[in-house]
Amino acid sequence: MPTMKFPWQRIYGYGFAVLVSLMVLVVKYLLGLTFEAPYLLLFVAVVISALYGGLGPSLLATFLTAALVNIYFIFPTGELIVDRKVDIQLVTYIAQGLLVSLIVEWHRRSDRKNRLAEKQLSYLGAIVESAEEAIFSKDLNGIVTSWNKGAEHLYGFKAMEIVGKCIKVTVPEEKIAEWEAMMACLRRGQRTDTLETIRRKKNGDLINVSLTVSLIKNSQGKTLGISSIARNITRRVELEKRRDEFLGLASHELKTPITTIKAYNQALQNFPEVRNSQAALILKKAEGQIDRLTRLITELLNVSRIEEGKLELVPSKFDFDNLVRTTVEDIQVTTAQHKIVLSGRTGETLLADRERIQEVLVNLLTNAIKYSPYGKNVRVNLSAADHHVQVNIRDYGIGISQGDQKKVFEKYYRAQSNNNPYPGLGIGLYLARDIINRHGGKIGVKSRKGLGSNFYFSLPI
Ligand code: ADP
Repeated sequence: MPTMKFPWQRIYGYGFAVLVSLMVLVVKYLLGLTFEAPYLLLFVAVVISALYGGLGPSLLATFLTAALVNIYFIFPTGELIVDRKVDIQLVTYIAQGLLVSLIVEWHRRSDRKNRLAEKQLSYLGAIVESAEEAIFSKDLNGIVTSWNKGAEHLYGFKAMEIVGKCIKVTVPEEKIAEWEAMMACLRRGQRTDTLETIRRKKNGDLINVSLTVSLIKNSQGKTLGISSIARNITRRVELEKRRDEFLGLASHELKTPITTIKAYNQALQNFPEVRNSQAALILKKAEGQIDRLTRLITELLNVSRIEEGKLELVPSKFDFDNLVRTTVEDIQVTTAQHKIVLSGRTGETLLADRERIQEVLVNLLTNAIKYSPYGKNVRVNLSAADHHVQVNIRDYGIGISQGDQKKVFEKYYRAQSNNNPYPGLGIGLYLARDIINRHGGKIGVKSRKGLGSNFYFSLPI
């Protein structure tokens, strides 16, 4: 932190310079020093004033001593006379005084800067040391160079046990490849996103951590090492796991009764006294809601299947354009307000899990409708290029902010979750991404808040 100099401190400096100058002159008088070098002793006053008061006081000392020596020591005394000989000596003295003042001032400044930097460093050091998060640094090979108390607490290694060793000792076997990929990324000078992963403590226990890793660079941009901040998220992950297990169980139990209700509903619709009556219309609407409920339950079941690694793909050959067209027709029936306009074609037959790809399409189309309450059109475009097919689903609805676009594919994430007035669980896109990734495809979104969204996915041919 920069230190301020108060006015009285400055006045002190000048007063000190006057005092030292007078004292040196008294000493000179007492010692009766020679006229051959009349100014020599006076440098003491200049240097002391410079050290204590800085540039201003040392200049004052230079001029004051020069004038007083001239008046009191150089013949004829009592007057400030500058003859030719004295003139050269005087100018030399003043020039040297100036130089000394500047050099001392320069030293004072760089010294002050160093002290300031040291102070800031020690502040930062204290912050890092007392932080609850594990904060540590390593070089580009992963060798630990510093380790704070939080890291000792989180990983169980004392600083002296791990500094100088490779951080890999905290990486469990199944995460080595992920760690190496991250290090390779950093070595190329690239940034990495915050990573939720698993680490091993000294006693062998596994912990879930959220890891933020970044490059440490000096002012010239040269990489000095890597800094890591790790937080223990084991409790959160456990709670999420329990929630997923519960939802999996609940949705499994709900599946049978809902299927039965649907069957009863269809049976009712087929009764001769119901057919073509007002009741048939109501039952049709009820069926629509049953289908919605079935979709939600299926999504919940799929989430728990993903978590347990049990979501299997059943590939078959099918006409991709046909799948998109029939799905668009099915969804068109559910909305009177929107017109879904299909354009383009791929002409491709895919080997993929038809049912799962349809789930993705249904999710993207229902979202396009749900999140464009005032929009009229939803445009679906098909195209094929470079060994893949691509679908774009464009709506003119509420859109998604830049920050949310990165997160909407995360599990249970809903944009503006507290103010999101549209019904939903935040799992449709999570499932869609999982399904598309498993097929070796890509899924993404481009959107502008208030102007609508364009969700797209591609699949290899
Ligand atoms: P849900 O719609 O059930 O909340 P999703 O996983 O399908 O779950 O979507 C996650 C979030 O992404 C939604 O809550 C919404 O905020 C946002 N979102 C998805 N599709 C759109 C869209 N077409 N327009 C605007 N926001 C969307």
